Formats: sequence, C-alpha cells, structure tokens
Amino acid sequence: MPENEAIENVIVVGSGPAGYTAALYTARANLSPLVIEGFAWGGLLQQTTDVENYPGYPDGVMGPEMMAEFRRQAERFGARLVTDQATRVELAREPGGIHRVWVGDQEHRALAVVLAMGAEHKKLEIPGEQELGGRGVSYCATCDAAFFKDRRTIIVGGGDSAMEEAIFLAKFAENVTIVHRRDEFRASKIMLERARQNENIEFLTPYVVDEFVAAGNGALGKARVRNVETGEGRELEMSGAFIAIGHEPQSELVAGQVDLDENGYVRTEARSTRTNLPGVFAAGDVVDHTYRQAVTAAGTGCMAALDAEWYLRDTPEVPTPAGLPEGDLAEAQWAEPAKP
Ligand code: NAP
Repeated sequence: MPENEAIENVIVVGSGPAGYTAALYTARANLSPLVIEGFAWGGLLQQTTDVENYPGYPDGVMGPEMMAEFRRQAERFGARLVTDQATRVELAREPGGIHRVWVGDQEHRALAVVLAMGAEHKKLEIPGEQELGGRGVSYCATCDAAFFKDRRTIIVGGGDSAMEEAIFLAKFAENVTIVHRRDEFRASKIMLERARQNENIEFLTPYVVDEFVAAGNGALGKARVRNVETGEGRELEMSGAFIAIGHEPQSELVAGQVDLDENGYVRTEARSTRTNLPGVFAAGDVVDHTYRQAVTAAGTGCMAALDAEWYLRDTPEVPTPAGLPEGDLAEAQWAEPAKP
C-alpha cells in the first residue's frame, strides 16, 4: 500500500514549459496537482542561454530563469512539487481507474496523469561536446543562430533537422558546413535541395566529428573531423557547432502502456492531448516532433490541463473533485469546429 493513502486529482510527470503550464492550469482549477519535476527540473530550457523567441520577454530571458518563473507561478497557485525522478508508472486502462506513479519506493495515486517528460537532444558523445555546450556547441539553431552572425559554423547530421537548422543558420552565419557521416542523406529531397541552393552552405561527407576543441578564450575554436572511408583527419576552425542528429523522446517510463509512435513519441488524438488510456494526457516534446518550441509546449500543457479537468468533471466513473469550477468548457471541447 502507498504510504500516502490520498488519491490525487492530477499528477504531472515532467517540468518543462508543458509540465509547469499543465500544473499552473490544474492548480488554478483547484485540482492541487502533484508535479514530479525530476532533479534537473525545467527540461531542455535549463540547457539554453538567452531565449529571445518566447512572447512577453522583449529583452530576452535566460532559459533557466524563465523556467524558475514558470515553476514559481505554478507553485503560487498550489502546485506541489516533488524534486525527484518518477521511476515507474502503472496506468489504469478503465475510465475512472487509479493511475500509480512511483518515485523510488514512494507510490502516488491519481485519477488523471499528464505526461510531460519532454525529449532530449541526441548527443555525439565526443570529447569537448559537453564542456563547450553553451560556449559554441548548441543543439538548437532556431534558438542560438543569431549569436553566430558572420561566424564560421558547422551543422552535424544529415536529416531534415540538419537541413532546416542549416538553412536557418545560413541567414546569420558567414558560412555553414554540414558534416554528415554518409554520402547519402536521410533528409527529404526538397529540404536537401533547399540547403544546396544556399551559397554559404557547404557539405562535408562522409565525415564524422571526433572532438571539439576550445580556443584561447575558452569558447569553441575548432572541430577535429575524420573521413570515415579514408581515415584522413582535418581540423575545421569555427565558432559555432550545431548538432542535429535527432531527438529522443523521454517516454521509456510509459513504454508498453501508452501508445507510442515508431520513434517513441506518445500518440495523442488529433486536436487534443488524450492518449489511448482514459485519464492519461500528454503534452510538449514527448508528443511533438514537429514544432518543439517552448511556446508550443506551454500551449499543449494548457490543453492537457483542460483535458484533464474535463475528464475529471465529465467521466461518470470519476467522483468529481471538490472545488472544480463550474462551466461549460467540456461542452466546448466536444463541439464541432465553427464553420468558416
Ligand atoms: P533523423 O531523420 O533521424 O536524422 C538524424 C541524422 O543524424 C541522420 O542523418 C543520421 O545519420 C545522423 N546521425 C544520427 N546519429 C548520429 C551520430 N551519432 N553521429 C553522426 N550522425 C548521426 O532526425 P531529424 O533530422 O531530427 O528528423 C526527425 C523527424 O522529424 C524526421 O521524420 C524528419 O523528417 C522530421 N523533420 C521534418 C522537418 C520538416 O519537414 N521541415 C524538419 C525537421 C524534422 P544516418 O542518416 O547515417 O543515420
């Protein structure tokens, strides 16, 4: 039996923009959510520096500072935070069933769960990568390209993300070299063609990066690259290296219970955050492999909170939580889209 006999209304697993926004909205609906936020709370934004594309911050904001504000706002309305990892879940399959989430030995039970575990950038796992993170090595050109105006840069990867990042980066940088380990590209023809049309984008194949090396100022100065066929090594001087070798959704916790797509992202119904399990909702980068922005993650976190609220109010098998505000939001959810 769990030490804590109480059945929570909502447990939010994860703490990026999606998790904290779900927490904020469910807290403001008097649902007193329990947030399992992890040790390194704040998600991928904890690894970024300036965020200049989140509306409402005209002067930009540091990623960690923004997440601290998200967190404080959720707490202000009664979200309860557990700064630890969720280690196991057992999700009910029936409407009104009790979902179980463990943090080590501590079992928590809830009527509804919001999955917001996010995604991680795949890493090259080479020397210098971690040390120079935020000092020239980046995983997000959309976030950081503007810092590399008129600088020499590389992109590592050969998929659509690499092409998209390169095309964006090329608007700022003096030069972008796409370093890819094969002569063939996984990227779609159209994206590859768009990249090729840029005069300041070059391709270096079949090459891998073996090491990132700091310059005298402690920031990235060069990359040691190697031709995988001939073994020939070279050094590329640069200020920025963007690694775009894919993302990994952090969905291991729910694998085998919730429907995942072939890449491990949680599947949700169109225009909602509902998973295949009643009372289980998913938001942010653990679902989204397309937009992956803080603002879109926050948006789906809000949707998950409203979906959870409606589920708790409108599922006959669920005893409606005390204090849930009255309203016709549920009807609005099921309404047909307005005709243009
Ligand atoms: P992806 O398609 O899996 O491509 C990853 C690339 O990184 C591949 O070229 C792969 O090389 C390379 N790679 C992987 N691990 C590596 C390593 N350890 N060292 C060096 N290279 C490595 O990932 P993605 O580009 O992020 O795309 C993910 C999905 O999102 C795709 O379905 C894509 O179409 C979609 N997407 C679409 C758009 C768009 O349409 N606008 C934009 C972005 C993403 P190999 O090819 O040799 O395996």
